[in-house]
Amino acid sequence: MKNAPILICEIAIPDLFLRLWAVAGLTKISQLWNQGILVDFESIHKSFNIPHTEFYKFLQIRHLLLAKRNFTCSPADEKLHNWLFSTDPKFRGITLGYQLLKMKTTDPLDKLKDLWSLDLLGPISDQEWLEAYTSIPKYSKCVDHLENARKLLYRWYKTPASIHNIFPDFPSTCWRCHKEIGSFIHMWWTCPPIKKLWNQVFSCISSLIGIQTLPSPKLALLSIGLESFPSFLRTVIIHIIIVTRIKIALSWKSDALPNIKRIYRSMDINCMYEHMWATIRLHKPQFRLAWDIWLSNSFCQIEQNSSIRK
Ligand SMILES: [Zn+2]
Repeated sequence: MKNAPILICEIAIPDLFLRLWAVAGLTKISQLWNQGILVDFESIHKSFNIPHTEFYKFLQIRHLLLAKRNFTCSPADEKLHNWLFSTDPKFRGITLGYQLLKMKTTDPLDKLKDLWSLDLLGPISDQEWLEAYTSIPKYSKCVDHLENARKLLYRWYKTPASIHNIFPDFPSTCWRCHKEIGSFIHMWWTCPPIKKLWNQVFSCISSLIGIQTLPSPKLALLSIGLESFPSFLRTVIIHIIIVTRIKIALSWKSDALPNIKRIYRSMDINCMYEHMWATIRLHKPQFRLAWDIWLSNSFCQIEQNSSIRK
């Protein structure tokens, strides 16, 4: 902050206008300090020819700076500032600074990736990780779907195990099966009632697309592997998966489980919303291609005479 431009004071003080100061050469807050002491107005007047009519502004700035004592500028800071903002092309301080910022350091998301790799009992490649990030917006216009995907990816949901770590009196056992430790992967995949639900969902997917699709936690929880299916099948696959995830999240802190038929009804609703969007955007041929396998299946309960089917 102490090396910030003087104009930044305009943000902190209403109706302050300091262009005149900047044009006169007083461009940095650090120029108001001399050996750790705030200079007086006469010094500024003499050094930069700031007119006396600006005195009240000086008082406002001085009040701001003295209220924040850490504005004092050390010689080391001054040296860095001069190096960064030097107009001498041989220094290129600001360019080098940006290059340092852009240098690849430890990505905070690597830790998440490692946690998922542990849970899924195998490494996740960079390509798969990218797929986990990018799949949902390609096949759904719903922000709730994207939100759910991000929350899962970032492991946002609090589990019995994680709550127990914070509050030791809280039991760490799963609130569904009441037997095993409620870790993240247990709550989303390996808990027996959840596993049974995912088996039903993948059986439905196999039936819909006509391809035997074994339950996969990578596909179910991170959408990884979706790109391996023909493109016209991906929309329905990802919608039924994400509807299941949302239903699980909605019954998060209970032992009740979503019913597969309720998942089918949510699919019908998704289909209707996607049809509305396609109608507005004149994308009906794409809608037909993506949703025909759902509309032509017995799981779908949308009325036969509905405009969605025409
Ligand atoms: Zn359980």
